[in-house]
Amino acid sequence: MAESTSAITSMLVENRVFDPNPALVAQARVSGMDAYRALCAEAEADFEGFWAKRARELLAWHKPFTQVLDESNKPFYKWFADGELNASYNCLDRHIGTPVEHKTAIIFEADDGAVTRVTYKELLARVSQFANALKSLGVKKGDRVVIYMPMTIEGVVAMQACARIGATHSVVFGGFSAKALQERIQDAGAVAVITANFQMRGGKELPLKGIVDEALALGGCDTVRHVVVWQRTSSACNMVAGRDVWLHDALAGQSTECPPEFVGAEHPLFILYTSGSTGKPKGVQHSTGGYLLWAQQTMLWTFDLKDSDVFWCTADIGWITGHTYVAYGPLAAGATQIIFEGVPTYPNAGRFWQMIERHKATIFYTAPTAIRSLIKASDTDAAVHPKNWDLSSLRILGSVGEPINPEAWMWYYKHVGGERCPIVDTFWQTETGGHMITPLPGATPLVPGSCTLPLPGIFAAIVDEQGNEMPHGQGGILVVKKPWPSMIRTIWGDPERFKKSYFPEELKGYYLAGDGAVRSEDRGYFRITGRIDDVLNVSGHRMGTMEIESALVAKTDLVAEAAVVGRPDDLTGEAIVAFVVLKRPLPQGEEAKQIANELRNWVAKEIGPIAKPKDIRFGENLPKTRSGKIMRRLLRAIAKGEAITQDVSTLENPHILEQLAKTN
Ligand code: ATP
Ligand code: MG
Repeated sequence: MAESTSAITSMLVENRVFDPNPALVAQARVSGMDAYRALCAEAEADFEGFWAKRARELLAWHKPFTQVLDESNKPFYKWFADGELNASYNCLDRHIGTPVEHKTAIIFEADDGAVTRVTYKELLARVSQFANALKSLGVKKGDRVVIYMPMTIEGVVAMQACARIGATHSVVFGGFSAKALQERIQDAGAVAVITANFQMRGGKELPLKGIVDEALALGGCDTVRHVVVWQRTSSACNMVAGRDVWLHDALAGQSTECPPEFVGAEHPLFILYTSGSTGKPKGVQHSTGGYLLWAQQTMLWTFDLKDSDVFWCTADIGWITGHTYVAYGPLAAGATQIIFEGVPTYPNAGRFWQMIERHKATIFYTAPTAIRSLIKASDTDAAVHPKNWDLSSLRILGSVGEPINPEAWMWYYKHVGGERCPIVDTFWQTETGGHMITPLPGATPLVPGSCTLPLPGIFAAIVDEQGNEMPHGQGGILVVKKPWPSMIRTIWGDPERFKKSYFPEELKGYYLAGDGAVRSEDRGYFRITGRIDDVLNVSGHRMGTMEIESALVAKTDLVAEAAVVGRPDDLTGEAIVAFVVLKRPLPQGEEAKQIANELRNWVAKEIGPIAKPKDIRFGENLPKTRSGKIMRRLLRAIAKGEAITQDVSTLENPHILEQLAKTN
């Protein structure tokens, strides 16, 4: 590329635009693009004042802060540092005595369909009692507690209870192996592990406590004094005398009142390990004040939350989305939310739609991987198509976790949202704490596959490798130019890795997100083109993986999912290898060759001959993290014919690697 060596060629053209629904605009918190621009201008004119105002309005401070942003030790930024507050107090106590007190906080639907509701008042009592139980076990402010729990009310209560006493939690997804759990317990130096005897997923009873035992037996976890076990099912599990305690025993006799432990705004509320799509997971450390501010503000802006909403974020509490938009944001904002224990395909792939109808969900927030799998399911079985349920309660849809392919976006928009609900395609990361680039439902005209524009106060840009801003239309590296309150504070125990990973010297002190992006020439909208690690270089053209994948998925009669990687090639520098999941049984021999050819020509027609995959492989699935993200780094090894020697602790489906290694 003549203009810049680091420009990423962008070929995907998306002309469809959907203006916001006027009924939504009329009553939105941020109503219309002028209102959005006014907020951006406010942040530009007085950056610290912008954040200070919102921190005072949205949070209850035990001791008010006097300094907004402390930049004295960049990139270790501090926000509201001399202020004191408690996250659990902000999520629960402050609603008492308001109309929210008797409002339903959580509608819980268990795997088997049983429904439980708790009000804010009841939740406060449960959290307080749990907090007292932890205290009685000697857990105190500053201690780390690992939570390895199913997606249940108790999981959220455990997190809130830690926050209440100033203990820093680290939630580990209940699908992780003993080894992955052990590594996280050790890295965090946890004094206690909170778990359940078993969890219920898809009608199956799966062990949790047994895996904790295995993890602790692996060694290196000497800091752990107690394992608190919630009895989810009646099956027996091993209990180690002196170390293990049943939750019901620990709760017995404890008061349902527990004064919150007020902490400094920078006190680490939690550590959460990233999903490991690109390498070894990092222990991302978040603050209390700045984090909670953004969790609440984005609930109000991105989801335009109203008192009457029934909010449903399907993410597990093991992921950042389940922290910010299940355990903290909705509660801080006083919302009613749905929590679901099970999986979207049990008892059948209509479960999500059935639950939306049943609980009259108004805001629904899920991941592209779930959407793609439900499209595939309803294409093969009409009985699980969303049209079979009444989804008229919905007013806003959201997407998170990966770029959403335009064709999956269109299906979600049409068949789930009835062409009435905007889709907020929220770009953010474990490290950012909350949404960064996203449409606002009552303001932003939508373009399928684009996360559109940064939120007010977020100074996102696309730069080359020296940190110079790229013109619109040219892809580059996504950065954030100024700090923001909910940003990562450090990598737990590894401040050097924090500096190197996120604030590399060449980038002028900007925050490096690790994703490639391009802004559209007409609107300046951001579109994520893939991870920087995944950029392809074919005959000198640098391309993001996302566009080729989206072109493949746009062949809607054939393709359910696709992942694209590069392989060294003598002729072109790198050759494109595509791994494809079809909407039909795995093809063999001639049939496979013929479909591969058809897809190659399709891509050439959709985005250009340069993007034609040289090699196409078929599989029944793609290697994914347990949060459902495609692990392209493993596919790169397969494409090169290498053995996999990398960290696969977060891989969901190891057997799929063998299938994909076969050439057609
Ligand atoms: P690791 O950092 O260990 O590789 P990870 O990046 O998958 O794991 P997360 O923090 O859960 O861990 O995911 C953040 C990433 O997910 C973003 O950097 C981006 O690549 C992707 N992502 C999230 N939301 C969107 C979105 N709306 N559009 C495009 N990409 C998204
Ligand atoms: Mg990441």
